[in-house]
Amino acid sequence: MSAVNIGKTSVELTVRHPARTTPLDEMPTEKSKRIVLAAPRGYCAGVDRAVIAVEKAIEQYGSPIYVRKQIVHNIEVVSSLEERGAIFVDEVDEVPEGSHLVFSAHGVSPKVKSDAAAKNLMAIDATCPLVTKVHREAERFSRQDYHILLVGHEGHEEVEGTMGHAPENTTLIHDPDAADTVEVPESEKMIWLSQTTLSVDETMETVRRLRLRFPHLQDPPSDDICYATQNRQVAIKKIAPECDLVLVVGSSNSSNSVRLVEVALETGAKAAYRIDYSSEIKQEWLEGVSTIGLSSGASVPEYLVDEVLSDLRHAGFGHVDTVTTATEDLMFSLPKELRSDDRALGGRKS
Ligand code: SF4
Repeated sequence: MSAVNIGKTSVELTVRHPARTTPLDEMPTEKSKRIVLAAPRGYCAGVDRAVIAVEKAIEQYGSPIYVRKQIVHNIEVVSSLEERGAIFVDEVDEVPEGSHLVFSAHGVSPKVKSDAAAKNLMAIDATCPLVTKVHREAERFSRQDYHILLVGHEGHEEVEGTMGHAPENTTLIHDPDAADTVEVPESEKMIWLSQTTLSVDETMETVRRLRLRFPHLQDPPSDDICYATQNRQVAIKKIAPECDLVLVVGSSNSSNSVRLVEVALETGAKAAYRIDYSSEIKQEWLEGVSTIGLSSGASVPEYLVDEVLSDLRHAGFGHVDTVTTATEDLMFSLPKELRSDDRALGGRKS
């Protein structure tokens, strides 16, 4: 057992790649037992960029490199970067003066940036450009005297960062039920924005119910729920109806991973579980199961999916069909502080 220090809170890790203590029962491969692998899955362009930003910062400036919050919401990725010289902190005041500090893919408020500047920190901003787009929208509509209804999860770092760009003019709506009761200041101009990693269907239901109360509510200029979140949900919706069991690899604090489990259950999977590691698959989950759907969240390295495939092959699920609902080729360039070459990034599967 080791502890990963993520700021003041310490996250207990069993080990990276924890070994399975009780192997899944070995079963012969049967034609009737199959895995349906969803595509796209795993790393998105924003996660790829953020992880490489920390790796490159360590390479360029030496360790330690401080990172505010988890760079992406995946325990394996955080643990791996910590081994290589990253130190994860909750807040800027934990970072020694003059150090290098990376802002995570989820983005930060302007106040966090000014706190870092006041401590002479060398900030490297790994905020996903699609989160930055929402920040810009929040600033712009706030300047134009709109009241912003931000659909998102209370306490999520991305929501805190976005609200910090228009703190006086934003109200958070955390689910469809809240849309019926939330108290909002009187405003002739209202617009809704959202966190990038929500369930598309649930968000649309929230907006539908908001509009019953506020008919003049305007839509954002373009989707805030990002392409990667949407694509992974479309793929899991496609496979879920034929699955006795759906497994989603991803961490418990990964919003898009948790949403994939919910979407699988809502769209026909008989059972669905989120796991960080293959070793968490329980033997009883496989009882009476013929078809297993498999996907992973946008912050999950592909080798964790490969480990699941390997363990399930041992348990008799040797046939794998991939169902592809979209192909992704989006790439983002590195944060400007690290752009020493023309390296463009995106969707790396590692
Ligand atoms: S999930 Fe979407 S918003 Fe979040 S880092 Fe990936 S591309 Fe960016």
